[in-house]
Amino acid sequence: MLKTTFTLTSKKELTHDVYELIYSCPDLVREAPKPGQYVMFQLAPGLNRSYSLSDFTHDTFTLVIKRVPEGKGSPMICNADVGTIFSGMIPLGHFVLRETNVSKCFIGTGTGFAPLYCQMLGMCNKNITDTNVAFIFGVREEKDIFYTDEIAEIGKKFTKFDYQSYLSRSTLEGYKNGYVTDWIIRENISSYQEFYLCGSPAMVKSAREKLETFGVESERIFWEQF
Ligand SMILES: Cc1cc2nc3c(=O)[nH]c(=O)nc-3n(C[C@H](O)[C@H](O)[C@H](O)COP(=O)(O)OP(=O)(O)OC[C@H]3O[C@@H](n4cnc5c(N)ncnc54)[C@H](O)[C@@H]3O)c2cc1C
Repeated sequence: MLKTTFTLTSKKELTHDVYELIYSCPDLVREAPKPGQYVMFQLAPGLNRSYSLSDFTHDTFTLVIKRVPEGKGSPMICNADVGTIFSGMIPLGHFVLRETNVSKCFIGTGTGFAPLYCQMLGMCNKNITDTNVAFIFGVREEKDIFYTDEIAEIGKKFTKFDYQSYLSRSTLEGYKNGYVTDWIIRENISSYQEFYLCGSPAMVKSAREKLETFGVESERIFWEQF
């Protein structure tokens, strides 16, 4: 783990409240992150905030952050101008991709997208592409949808990619109405050996419980919640 600084080099609004932020961090050459790990911003004394990497290179990393209007930390990060330098610690966390050549299912909501996307990129980088991959992803409504092109692109890299997208609070052609956990039925999960979950504590709890009900051992379930 490095205690270092990083500079905001690019900022893009993905939706009305979700931002893609890219930072340069030359120190990363000293310790490469693993897909699924996170950075902790030290914003002020007593004000630390963690964010999963959605992508990284040898000297940059990308975040997908929801700006919580009444939040203490996320507005400081999302409102910052390109060129702003932050302090923090990277890489952190144990929610990492297992580099096994077995089928994997990724289930997430909202900005829980970030580590799951990074893990799927990690599979591509390690040439773990000739196995079943599912990405079950949900947001609330149409205005919350982001990264559709990126998901389509990554899907093409896997021999067999099942992408199921959900909207919990509205209906739209091409999207299922409901919760990502609705997808967890015996028939759907039977093709997958490992399960990676990321989203709200309620979503992760419900997904874990359903998976365990269907006999998936806890050793095959990996999760992060925020
Ligand atoms: C390991 C880890 C990885 C994380 N990765 C990401 C990530 O990739 N992207 C990301 O956006 N966040 C991520 N988070 C969450 C992030 O660390 C902050 O908790 C979040 O940005 C809110 O911080 P804040 O200071 O703005 O709000 P706070 O000041 O902490 O909270 C203000 C109020 O907003 C509410 N609130 C907090 N979060 C949300 C939310 N998401 N939606 C609605 N209300 C909320 C709180 O309950 C509180 O009432 C991660 C957290 C952890 C622990």
